[in-house]
Amino acid sequence: MYKGQVCDIHIHVSIPQDMEIIASRMKQHGYAKYCLLGCGSYYPRAKGVSNVLALLQKLRDPSVYAFASLEHPETGTASAESLLEQVKMYHALGFDGVKMIEGKPNIRLRTGVPLDDAVYEPMLGFLEAHDIPVLSHVNDPRFFWDITKMSPAQIARGWYAGPDNPSFETVRAEALETMRRHPGLRTTFAHFFFASGSTDEADGILDRYPNVNFDLTPGTHYADMSGARNEWRTFLTRRSNRLLFGTDNAAATSEAHTPLCRQILETANEIEYRGVSLQCFELPEAALADIYEKNFDRFAGASPRPVDCERLSSYIQWTSDLMEGAQYASDIRADLTALDKSL
Ligand SMILES: [Zn+2]
Repeated sequence: MYKGQVCDIHIHVSIPQDMEIIASRMKQHGYAKYCLLGCGSYYPRAKGVSNVLALLQKLRDPSVYAFASLEHPETGTASAESLLEQVKMYHALGFDGVKMIEGKPNIRLRTGVPLDDAVYEPMLGFLEAHDIPVLSHVNDPRFFWDITKMSPAQIARGWYAGPDNPSFETVRAEALETMRRHPGLRTTFAHFFFASGSTDEADGILDRYPNVNFDLTPGTHYADMSGARNEWRTFLTRRSNRLLFGTDNAAATSEAHTPLCRQILETANEIEYRGVSLQCFELPEAALADIYEKNFDRFAGASPRPVDCERLSSYIQWTSDLMEGAQYASDIRADLTALDKSL
């Protein structure tokens, strides 16, 4: 196995009870550093909780980074002014970056707003001007537009992109239009940007947009890649300076998941993976160093930004107000109050 440092750019905490589980699992996996991604924009009215939890985890553990998600009303989006104010506040508090999930089909449908809409422009301009990294989930696997190809579990999670959804290509074009307008905006598209149809597809995007990276968080890309394993192995090696390791670890994730993600990159094992047989990629040491560590440092910073504790109390208050009526709000609010008192 790879002996250097392993950093994970893509982990979630949703409720206070998750924090201990994630912290001990990350220790067990021997991560050098990891990044907690807010997921407030994903759940209507879950509101801000994951951002606060991520920030608190940064305070407790100097190896933790936190990317803040954006708060929206239950339908539509927050105003341009609100989005700009939110990212200014997150940056001042000490968040290390911003997580966007506004391009995932169910969220894109709920907001009803293209990713290149004017509402996002002042925020994106600020992020670009201040060199704040963005990790963005855009689209889902192409087959989520075809319900006959989806599993019952995927459908049950509300991931079918039905006829009211804009197409995969439309949403991808919106995301890339924001990159054209903001070429300095350092972006990592989650889950390989669902660009694993061919190496030409992935290369084309990376060639055109020099500040775009992909994370290797599963995803369906490894299953897609299994059909042209050697070609993809060459791609993963050649493009290692644009790829980041991620797992989507959350409290409910199996303990076997992270070792599996590493096995796929590091070994030559033949495994059964999501219904296909996959010969793992056995990437060279230098490519692994890029994917596990160097790109994490380059993208998220060599060390986490300090939290401004002076601002934290008022931020927790702001989030508590925001949560009014939210699912789990009373549980979470009690925990937050206790956490606030412990500061
Ligand atoms: Zn995720």
